[in-house]
Amino acid sequence: MKRFEQYPISLTNSLSGKKELFKPIVPEYVGMYVCGPTVYNNVHLGNTRTFLTFDIVSRYFRFLGYKVRYVRNITDVGHLVGDTDEGEDKIAKKARLEQLEPMEVVKRYTEDFHNVMRLFNILPPSIEPSATAHIIEQIEITKKLIDLGLAYEANGSVYFDVKKYNQSHHYGILSGRNIEELMESGRDLDSQDEKREKIDFALWKRASPEHIMRWPSPWGDGFPGWHIECTVMSTKYLGETFDIHGGGMDLKFPHHECEIAQATGANGKVPVNYWLHSNMLTVNGQKMSKSLGNSFLPAELITGNHPLLEKGYSPMTTRFFMLQSHYSSTLDFSNEALQASEKAYRRLSTALNTVKSLSHTPGNANEAFSKEIQALIDDCYKNMSDDFNTAKTLAVLFEMSSRINDFKAGNKKTSDLSAELFASFKSTYIAFMEEVLGLQEETAQSNNALDGAIKVLIDLRKKARTDRNYALSDKIRDDLKAVGIQLKDGKEGEMTYELD
Ligand code: AMP
Ligand code: ZN
Repeated sequence: MKRFEQYPISLTNSLSGKKELFKPIVPEYVGMYVCGPTVYNNVHLGNTRTFLTFDIVSRYFRFLGYKVRYVRNITDVGHLVGDTDEGEDKIAKKARLEQLEPMEVVKRYTEDFHNVMRLFNILPPSIEPSATAHIIEQIEITKKLIDLGLAYEANGSVYFDVKKYNQSHHYGILSGRNIEELMESGRDLDSQDEKREKIDFALWKRASPEHIMRWPSPWGDGFPGWHIECTVMSTKYLGETFDIHGGGMDLKFPHHECEIAQATGANGKVPVNYWLHSNMLTVNGQKMSKSLGNSFLPAELITGNHPLLEKGYSPMTTRFFMLQSHYSSTLDFSNEALQASEKAYRRLSTALNTVKSLSHTPGNANEAFSKEIQALIDDCYKNMSDDFNTAKTLAVLFEMSSRINDFKAGNKKTSDLSAELFASFKSTYIAFMEEVLGLQEETAQSNNALDGAIKVLIDLRKKARTDRNYALSDKIRDDLKAVGIQLKDGKEGEMTYELD
């Protein structure tokens, strides 16, 4: 029996608003598309939360035995400042401000994005297509939508005719927005003259003479709209109907609503069976966002070099912090929460290190204890299969880490379990920590490095004292204290330290 048969996954489908049992289109295969970053600046911690959510989703599907094709795109054209149909392209604007080629901007920030993903142990997708590499396909589908009467050309741009689409389909199916209200409330912008209705959205935009990112098309030189790239890249690599589409909650409308309309209109099929939306990382209740000035970069998080940060936090502490809440809830950043996570994560990570060195001693298994251990193992799977509940899974791992400490301290005997059950306990803990949640054993390695570094400073301080250089010796003590390391003078003249 495959793991996914034993522990079937249910997930909250944003399309129905309900938790549904996952059934793949092709047995044993999962196709998932996630909207990737717009590579015009450094990714911040909020973006990272969304990509972490889908890292967990793809990891867990794989862990249960599915073959996963995970497509996450790079948006390198078409995403306009303000997320509307008007204004400058985000990439082109950055290129203008920094006097770079747009593709230099794309390269720089794609690389930054990849580095950040690696830092947080977020695995790469199976395919990472970019919008500029799929211009032909975007023109093709735009032509098709015009032929079907669902799009129209105006002044070198092409717009999707939402009202026409809504005659036979439901625009608003995902976001629950009401089309009449939307038609009233749409913003009055320049292209309003070109659009039949305010609610219509661009599939192709005419490039003004100064616009640097441009391609020839049947409608003249231009560039694709933001939404069409995802429709093209998802269906190209996953088929006209695929299993899962993910992204941040803020993309539900208009981006994902438009994707559904374009794909349904062009292919006559429901494009996605399950929509998953990850909630926002907030700061004091406000969405973390570059434009609000409340975002910080992963590098700032690690060094603590930011007004919002009291100190630096490691990537694994941060990963753990994020996994402690369910992806569908907002998560508020605070120094207190991060500091609590640091301590808590150390416990899990130490147990991970310990469990690897535990071995089984033969004996007579204790039935009650065996049942307890088996239940903990099952709970790891059950919680993850229940809409990827990382928070509850971590609670079980804490429970397991207490047992691990009991084994180590001799309060419990491994001989109380059969060899098979002990092996399963051990491998489950390791697998859920490392493979499923992607939490690396950080304490062991970094503690060793930290320990080594502090010892070097302690020796330096000793020498300063011997040299009667008390200014230096006090400075070492005070500087270490400022970063949470307390030096202690021992009775025998030796020096130790404690972490705050
Ligand atoms: P962008 O590069 O702006 O297209 O955003 C990349 C991804 O990050 C999208 O899926 C957004 O939904 C997501 N995102 C942006 N801000 C936040 C935030 N504060 N918390 C979580 N996800 C976010
Ligand atoms: Zn997208």
